[in-house]
Formats: sequence, C-alpha cells, structure tokens
Amino acid sequence: MANKRDYYDILGVSKDVTASELKKAYRKLAIKFHPDKNPGDQEAEEKFKELGEAYEALSDDDKRAAYDRYGHAAFENGGGGGGGFGGGGFHDASDIFSQVFGGAFGGGGGGFEDLFGGGRRRRNPSGRQPGSDLRYDLEISLEEAATGIQKELEIEKLEACSTCNSTGSKSGSGKNTCPTCGGQGAVTRQAGIFIQQTECPDCHGSGQIISDPCPDCHGEGRKTETSRIKINIPAGVDDGTRLRSTGNGDAGMRGGQPGDLYVFLHIKKHEIFDRDGDDLFCEVPMPFATAALGGELEVPTLEGKSSIKIPAGTQGGTTFRLRNRGIKDLRTGGKGDLHVEVQVEVPSKLNSEQKEKLTDFSESIGVKNNPMQESFFEKAKKFFGA
Ligand SMILES: [Zn+2]
Ligand SMILES: [Zn+2]
Repeated sequence: MANKRDYYDILGVSKDVTASELKKAYRKLAIKFHPDKNPGDQEAEEKFKELGEAYEALSDDDKRAAYDRYGHAAFENGGGGGGGFGGGGFHDASDIFSQVFGGAFGGGGGGFEDLFGGGRRRRNPSGRQPGSDLRYDLEISLEEAATGIQKELEIEKLEACSTCNSTGSKSGSGKNTCPTCGGQGAVTRQAGIFIQQTECPDCHGSGQIISDPCPDCHGEGRKTETSRIKINIPAGVDDGTRLRSTGNGDAGMRGGQPGDLYVFLHIKKHEIFDRDGDDLFCEVPMPFATAALGGELEVPTLEGKSSIKIPAGTQGGTTFRLRNRGIKDLRTGGKGDLHVEVQVEVPSKLNSEQKEKLTDFSESIGVKNNPMQESFFEKAKKFFGA
C-alpha cells in the first residue's frame, strides 16, 4: 500500500498527543467506522483497519518512537527502515478494537456488546456456561388465584450430574485442555481482512476435552432429571401473570449459573364468577316474589355464602355491590368488589290454584303498578304518533 497516511492524521491528533488522548481519539473514530455499524461499507472497513493500525503503532512507546524517527518505513516488511519491526506485524483491527474496549469477545468486559447491542455470544474460556431459562405453563383456579397457594411442579430439566460431580469425567480427573483451541473454546479464521471467531468444533466451546466421559451424562456434567419445584403463588395473580423462580432453570455447565424458571399462570374459567382486574361479577337468580316484596337473597362469594337485602320492587338486571369481596390487588393489597346482578326468575309449571291466584293478581294490579311497562307505553305512544 503506497502513499500511506500519517498515523497522527488518521487519528486526528497532534504529534505530542498523550496516551489517554490517543485512546480517546481512537475510541471515538473506531466506533464510528466499526464494520458492525457500517455493514457492507468498504470505505468504513478500510478506515477501521487503518485506525487500528495507527493506534497500535502510536500506543506502543517503542513503535511510536520508531515511527517518529523513520515514518512508515519503520514497519515495512523486512525491516528495511533500519531498526524497524520487520514482518509488518500488525494485529487484526478487530483485535485492537476489543483490546481497547476491554475483553470484548470474552463477553466479560461488556464494552463491545454494550456498544452494539450484544448478539455476540462468546464462550467463557473456563467452559462455564449458564443454564437455560425454562418456561412452565400452570393452570390454577380462580379461588387459588384469590387466596394464593403453594404448588409443587414436576419439571424435566437439566440437573448437575451427581455421578461425576458435574465434572463430566468418570474418574473426575479426565479433563484436558482442548488441543484444537488451546482451551479458548473458540477458533479464529480469516474472513476478508477480519478475523472471525467461531466456536471450537472439537470441544463445542467448553475449552476442555474429556478423555473418560461419565457414562451418566456423556461428559456433559449435567443430565435430564425430573425435579419437583415448589413455587409460592401470591394472592391476586391474574391470567398471564409470570412468576420467576430464580435458579430453577437448567443447571449451568461446569459451574456456570443455573437459568431461571418462569411460570406463566393461566386462570381456569369459573362456573359462577367472571373477573375483571380486582373485581368479580356474577348473576344470581331472584325469585319473582322476592323481587316484588323484597327480602333476603343468598349470594355466593369466593369465600362462601353471603346474603344481600333486596328492596321491594327490585327490577331484574339491578346490580348490587359487595365491597371488598373481590380479589386482592397484587401490588396494593387492597381488595376489589363483587358485583351481583339479580335476574328475576319467572316461575314455570304452575298448578291451577297458583294460576288462578296470579290471574287475580294480574287483574288487580293494572299498568300503574308496573313502572317499566308504564314508561314503555309512554314512549310507544310517541313513536306511533298516538
Ligand atoms: Zn476446543
Ligand atoms: Zn456425569
């Protein structure tokens, strides 16, 4: 590459730049031109590479001194510049970037992943891997949701293998560093001007090869087992509430953190009550005579039977509210109400004596005593123009 640009110009710094200013300048530009932010942009890719090279040269005191003295010749192949560094031995631009941003590819430092939104899952060189989160769908009754309950779940999940004490090795000492990746769990390969890291095909990212795999877990250090897990369901949960049971997901590998278990709650439809938030609704049949004469009406609540006072002349469809007979609010602890809608029941199968009494009654009452009928006929009169 002829006509190489000056390293100081590339980074936009002066010749007397301090190490921290240099790093700052590099960070700013490297983020701007990073290939992940400029997919398919050749020019940005070149710039990113150039930045890496410039930063690597200037951040090293010896290299910087040589560059100041000999210019680019200091790094030319064969060390022609006299006392140069031979071999053009610059690192890959991505490696420089990860060094500056701190352990980027190990996932530990987080700098790189935070900058570009993650998505780069690299294995920990120790072979430690967190276990997966699990989902369990649980159906409970409305009563259980209202009072809260403890449930025991039976779950098939990966557990630490007790046979090999989760080492994966039958003898416990058959673990060796993977020769393919040298224990890194990842191998690098050239992809264009960048070096790509991929999971090691031989150890599948664990960095270790097991010479005498445990027969129970086939060397994985964990195996599928049926576990019983108790979870406490608090009062007030609703359909779709998600509970997290920390650490009750799959076991991690080789000492990695276990995943979490997420329990998704579904509330069975109740025969009597409908629920809307903290409030409950139900319809209760009311005898015809009670509606006219008034009296006590027995009504159901989630806690058992209760009764309401029906005033004389109560129409069907009237709703009575029973305060604090709803569901406890999961957050505030306050309770919702129970709304009881009464439905007037018309008697069926009357005997002749009852029929006679009702006929007498009907004749005696007239329209005046039927408020709904009265107002209906008022409206109907206007409608028909009578
Ligand atoms: Zn390997
Ligand atoms: Zn085992």
